[in-house]
Amino acid sequence: MIDTKSFGRESKHEAAGSAHVARPLFFISDLHLSEAIPKTVAAFEHFIEVTASEADSVFILGDLFEFWVGDDVLDPAVDHERARFARRMTKLMHTLSERGIGLYVMHGNRDFLLGKRFMREAGAMLLPDPYAMTAFGTRIVLAHGDALCTADRAYQYFRRFARNSYAQRAFLALPLGARLAIGERMRSKSEGARMNGVSAKYDVTRKAVSELFIRSRTHTLIHGHTHRPAMHREVEGVRWVLPDWELDIDAPRGGYLRLDAGGVRALPL
Ligand code: MN
Repeated sequence: MIDTKSFGRESKHEAAGSAHVARPLFFISDLHLSEAIPKTVAAFEHFIEVTASEADSVFILGDLFEFWVGDDVLDPAVDHERARFARRMTKLMHTLSERGIGLYVMHGNRDFLLGKRFMREAGAMLLPDPYAMTAFGTRIVLAHGDALCTADRAYQYFRRFARNSYAQRAFLALPLGARLAIGERMRSKSEGARMNGVSAKYDVTRKAVSELFIRSRTHTLIHGHTHRPAMHREVEGVRWVLPDWELDIDAPRGGYLRLDAGGVRALPL
């Protein structure tokens, strides 16, 4: 189930362990951005424009967007609210590289169609899931988290199908209007599903977590997806779960993880 191919590719964050005072790495996930949640979008804008200024790099571990139906929404000729929103967010993210801040993006279960054009226009580098790297002398593994929810068999079946390159090509061959409509429908469905998402079926399993720690040879794991922010002390190491962002409701929530020489810390927005 878990792709181990990426473990051979180590990131260049070794530099963070060198003698000069290194800037921290910031981790976020599960913002589910769309033009329907303006306060959450404003919080993301603030995070990129202000909060991230301190960072060496920003890591987005999946589900940045509520859904992504193909990079052709970035074509300036596409006159659609959703497409304009996608272009605005992509431009915003590009300001990071203009300021010398790295941007790394991992696919989530909603935005796994973010492609090469998006990465180029956002000034981002796509990370495989899972991804092991060394920063500040510590080896850590990053994941979106959906692949660890192995008790949800129906979802894992869908995941294998959705990540299949033939299935993706068939979907991307549909007209953009049709894809946008399908995305809308998937969104309203997942909103219903979120209501009863408290079952253990929608959390990671011990077995999958243990396997990932062992295969990646790490003692620190950072993931999102489950919307259950916490720091868990597992048998093999520490598992940090990122919060989702939702600021357009009565009890707003969100936050990020910060990694520096002192270790990992959870911070509010
Ligand atoms: Mn997710």
